[in-house]
Amino acid sequence: MIDNSIFDNKTVFSFEVFPPKRSSSIETIYSTLDELSDLSPDFISVTYGAGGSENCSNTLEIAKRIKKSCNVESVVHLPCLHLSKAEAATMLQQFSENGIENILVLRGDRIEGRAPAGDFLHASDLSGFIKVTTGNSFHLSAACYPENHPESESIFSDLNNLKLKVDSGCNHLISQLFFDNHIFYRFIENCRLAGIDAPVEAGIMPVINRAQIERMVSRCGVVLPEKFKVMLDKYGDNDEAIMDAGIAYAVNQIIDLVSHGVDGIHLYTMNKPVVARKIYEAVKNIISIPKTPALAS
Ligand code: FAD
Repeated sequence: MIDNSIFDNKTVFSFEVFPPKRSSSIETIYSTLDELSDLSPDFISVTYGAGGSENCSNTLEIAKRIKKSCNVESVVHLPCLHLSKAEAATMLQQFSENGIENILVLRGDRIEGRAPAGDFLHASDLSGFIKVTTGNSFHLSAACYPENHPESESIFSDLNNLKLKVDSGCNHLISQLFFDNHIFYRFIENCRLAGIDAPVEAGIMPVINRAQIERMVSRCGVVLPEKFKVMLDKYGDNDEAIMDAGIAYAVNQIIDLVSHGVDGIHLYTMNKPVVARKIYEAVKNIISIPKTPALAS
């Protein structure tokens, strides 16, 4: 189980992977997991039906593989909007039986044409349910949004709702991707002012092609800084060049975040271990230095 003391004096470094499409076999991800594990991350998290695509059946299998064969702590994402309480209870039972102890509690994206099950409207409803039904059997994490969740009414309501998630048992947060570190620093300051003191990992997504970033911007509404747009304009049509530039951009973001004492870096790997390795090699001596306290902009 993740022990929050890992955040005390080191920069936590973690990865996120997603299950292969339903048309591909689960084995297609095994070599990716082996290569990512070689980089000794603190944990690897596995998405579950992200984007409403329902490709969720392999999440548990992949999390088991990470833990049992790769000897790395795994975290399962668990979106709840379309789950009933009975289904959630069954899944928690399956997690326990398979040695999975860490859950990223999520509301999840809406699935077009499918009504919510109605038992859980927000992530905090699920974390409350898990705490009431299983006590401290699981370490719970949650998502947070440096640029506000797209549906939130205001920065204040989003922070209040985030505080509810932490108060309901999620004692570790992973942020949505962002490309402007100053936005993240302001968000952390606001969290601390709002009494949210859980460690917050910065979600970093290396941009490796133009289509990927256009999809992300339309889905998450993240701000693209001027220098990022210039980079995309200049190299976006050349696959090799945009990958080099995207990796360099992510490395610069990470160095700046670690210099400012970030709790952790959560790398959205896009199942590309080559990219994760290049980033890891570029920052490994920086992230291994004992952490300096408190982020400041
Ligand atoms: P919530 O915390 O429930 O928040 C959603 C909205 O409701 C926000 O606007 C919030 O302010 C508001 N709100 C929250 N609580 C309350 C309350 N009590 N009362 C009123 N309003 C409230 N999606 C997937 O489907 N699968 C995945 O694997 C996945 N992984 C993700 C991993 C990370 C790190 C991140 C950042 C996102 C991930 N997502 C995933 C996307 C996520 O599910 C969506 O962003 C979804 O729209 C919100 O989920 P949430 O858990 O943040 O929701």
